[in-house]
Amino acid sequence: MNQEFLDKLIDTLGNDAVIVSPAELEPWLTDWRGVYKGGAQAVVRPRDTAQVAACLRLCNEYRVPVVPRGGNTGLCGGATPDASPANVVLSLDRMNGIRSIDTISNTLVADAGCILGNLRRAAHEAGRLLPLSLAAEDSSQIGGNVATNAGGVNVVRYGMARELVLGIEAVLPNGEIFNGLQTLRKDNTGYDLKQLFIGSEGTLGVITGVALKLHPLTQVRSVVLAGVSSAQQALELLRLVYGACGPRLQAFEYFTDACLDLVLTHVDGMHQPFDERHAGYVLIELADTADEEALQGLLESVIGQALEEDLCQDAVVSASLAQLQTLWRLREEISEAQRADGPHLKHDISLPIEQIPAFLETAERRLRTTSPDCRLFVFGHFGDGNLHYNVSRPEGADKTWAKEWEGRIADAVFTEVAEYGGSISAEHGIGQLKRHAFHHHKDPMHVRLMVQIKQIFDPNSIMNPGKLL
Ligand SMILES: Cc1cc2nc3c(=O)[nH]c(=O)nc-3n(C[C@H](O)[C@H](O)[C@H](O)COP(=O)(O)OP(=O)(O)OC[C@H]3O[C@@H](n4cnc5c(N)ncnc54)[C@H](O)[C@@H]3O)c2cc1C
Repeated sequence: MNQEFLDKLIDTLGNDAVIVSPAELEPWLTDWRGVYKGGAQAVVRPRDTAQVAACLRLCNEYRVPVVPRGGNTGLCGGATPDASPANVVLSLDRMNGIRSIDTISNTLVADAGCILGNLRRAAHEAGRLLPLSLAAEDSSQIGGNVATNAGGVNVVRYGMARELVLGIEAVLPNGEIFNGLQTLRKDNTGYDLKQLFIGSEGTLGVITGVALKLHPLTQVRSVVLAGVSSAQQALELLRLVYGACGPRLQAFEYFTDACLDLVLTHVDGMHQPFDERHAGYVLIELADTADEEALQGLLESVIGQALEEDLCQDAVVSASLAQLQTLWRLREEISEAQRADGPHLKHDISLPIEQIPAFLETAERRLRTTSPDCRLFVFGHFGDGNLHYNVSRPEGADKTWAKEWEGRIADAVFTEVAEYGGSISAEHGIGQLKRHAFHHHKDPMHVRLMVQIKQIFDPNSIMNPGKLL
């Protein structure tokens, strides 16, 4: 703890913006999964961009490490400080105002601390869609979403956070404000610097404002859950549905029977969707601006064709909003069910889509030679090539299993991912969790350029030490 620094911090930002008592600091020092725990001398909760700038200026002067924190839903420990008691956690939670919504330019400008779900609701009230959507949207903040380049369930139609960002306001470690908060659709004036902040995981500066693209509101939705005999069948189904439904395809999700079993075991009120069990399940959502009947008709006809052509085994089409939500819950509750099942190893990977079936076969073979009895839970955003390839302890094994096997299992999975030209992080980022794997698998030239960029933005290395690089 540096008392002179803390006194200046409190003088500059006010008592209400700085937490220092150990008991009050405690909840800010762990991650969502409870895997990481760190140390800090203070948590700072600025009210506006000027206060963020003042805080960073001081931290830079005293060489105090800064850990930006959004909603703390990140799954890689990126918002959790390392063990050093010198850290300052900078929370954006009090910067939660919507600056503008424009239904002609179709843009929304907001403070970085706004909860994603609140922004989605505000856009909806204005008659527009903010398509970024994930299970953690009612806790995660838009600044965190942008800092991690979040994905979610609608990427197949609208792309990741990166594709939705028009502008960014950020504070650099020396306190300078990067004013790139524009809403232009076109701006070809050299390097697009805002892109560097997207996916930077708090290592270059603190994002304080974001300008986002809005889309037409998709008022009508239709969902089908299809049972498939293999990932290859899911792939052929994707080809058919994409060809027939084009831009109406809003989500194409996949989960194995083991995931369904987990949800049925751990989540109250969930029921088996089919009389028979299948190797896997595909959840398809179509959405459109109007004409529910036509949308439902399209989905039913495509699924009818899929059944006829043996591209799925069975299917249930939602007949009401309640049924649509129940079908979605089978997919969305998998993370919670895994949490209830106990410690597990998460691998958020992406692959060239057409390689998914082959990958699943050879990766499982490799995994079984490493740990024959581990339990495998595969689910995710199949339509954009993103799988959550999660591994849990064998039946009866001690809960310490995950810690003990982490390295060997990650090596097996990531080696196989590399063989198929995939990525070790599809949408969760690197944080502390994947730092070792990142340095092992990323092209050294890419890493070198990233280190050089970091040096330009943050020459004193105060931003989020121990994360990403
Ligand atoms: C149940 C569940 C489901 C999830 N599903 C998905 C999913 O489908 N798709 C997906 O992509 N992710 C998913 N996630 C992961 C997580 O929700 C995302 O990574 C999210 O974008 C993190 O936002 P956050 O505000 O919680 O960020 P935090 O966890 O607080 O921070 C994440 C990283 O961003 C940095 N950061 C945060 N705010 C700022 C800022 N203002 N400026 C600079 N850096 C900042 C932090 O330092 C940290 O490195 C899920 C998480 C949970 C718990």
